[in-house]
Amino acid sequence: MTFRMLVVALLLSATTALAQNAEQKVQSIVSSASFRDARAALDADHPRFVRELITLTEIPAPPFKETKRAAAYLEMLREAKLADVETDAEGNVMGIRTGTGGGPMLAVLAHLDTVFPEGTDVKTKLEGTKLHAPGVGDDTGALALMLSVVRAMDAAKVQTPGDILFVGNVGEEGEGDLRGVKYLLQKGKYRDRIKSVISIDGGSQDGIVNGGLGSLRYRVTFKGPGGHSYGAFGLVSPAFAMGDAMARLSRLQVPRLPRTTFNVGVVGGGTSVNSIPTDMFMLVDMRSESPDELKKVHDAFQRVVREAVDEENKARSTAEGKIVADVKLIGDRPSGTTPTSTYLVQAAASVARVYGFTPTFEIGSTDANVPIAMGIPAITIGRGAGGRSHSMDEWIDVTKEKNVQAGEVVLATILAAAEGR
Ligand SMILES: [Zn+2]
Repeated sequence: MTFRMLVVALLLSATTALAQNAEQKVQSIVSSASFRDARAALDADHPRFVRELITLTEIPAPPFKETKRAAAYLEMLREAKLADVETDAEGNVMGIRTGTGGGPMLAVLAHLDTVFPEGTDVKTKLEGTKLHAPGVGDDTGALALMLSVVRAMDAAKVQTPGDILFVGNVGEEGEGDLRGVKYLLQKGKYRDRIKSVISIDGGSQDGIVNGGLGSLRYRVTFKGPGGHSYGAFGLVSPAFAMGDAMARLSRLQVPRLPRTTFNVGVVGGGTSVNSIPTDMFMLVDMRSESPDELKKVHDAFQRVVREAVDEENKARSTAEGKIVADVKLIGDRPSGTTPTSTYLVQAAASVARVYGFTPTFEIGSTDANVPIAMGIPAITIGRGAGGRSHSMDEWIDVTKEKNVQAGEVVLATILAAAEGR
């Protein structure tokens, strides 16, 4: 056996042992008397779960405008009898379920914001067992489910060694750029205490997101002196500089694996057909499964912009001024992976199997990106039984059996994670 083979074999057996350990832990959790009591409590809590789901869904929460929904959720966290219920400086609302002492802190997240702009009709409509409304599943269903799970833990007197921080966080979607979870883990008062993170988001229960797809987004504005298209012909032009930058960008080589991409999504600028523009802009999006490859494509993009500016300043007259590029970061989602060999990932996979799902490990762009990139074990799990997220006919199935089971999956994952290895 070569050294390399030996290392691989040792790693495999360590992973298998860890998987067995996680499997045993999960089995003992779900077959315990207190878990049975918690299941009964989830069952009895179902009408309240639906009520709170409707209340929360009908409070609009567009990106950067989550305040009203946050205030309502803060009250609900208080009613769920969590300790130290508060709003942080970024707008996240949270409370602690105190542990018996000694264990590391686990943070459980569901996001308050939806993708829908102000003015969207968020009134819920029940058709059969489907509750329809924009945002009802992503991620309001998880917010409501989290409350139900907390109450079930109390009703069943479930104890955990470490404290569990339950968070309704802001800024998960789009331009929110994960601002809520970034604040929580990088600046918030629990930043040094949180040792693992479970984010609950819209999506199926067999997918376990343990990889964060990193992205960087820029608004690049090319500026120049401008002038008359005929009278000032020969002066440098932001349009030509930007066109050159786009052409150079289009020729960049990126690997197929780890999947790495780049895009110019929006362009604009100028004032009239017979003017050399003073301003042109483009919005650029770059993504990669690998932090190294994301950095490479990012560095190449920066170089391309510089080269295009230099080229234009050489090609035409700068007598009235030069071309400059203002390169502004507008989005930064870090990438990385919580290895499948990690206890947290194995525990979540074991829970999925116990409930008859076939777990798959996925890469996503979720709140888990931030802890993953910081080296904190983190996953995003789905709350199940819904569809059409980010669309006007978004729905979740409010059948009792399905939601009690979703609550059980979340609870079992939390308990396994809270117990640690
Ligand atoms: Zn979501």
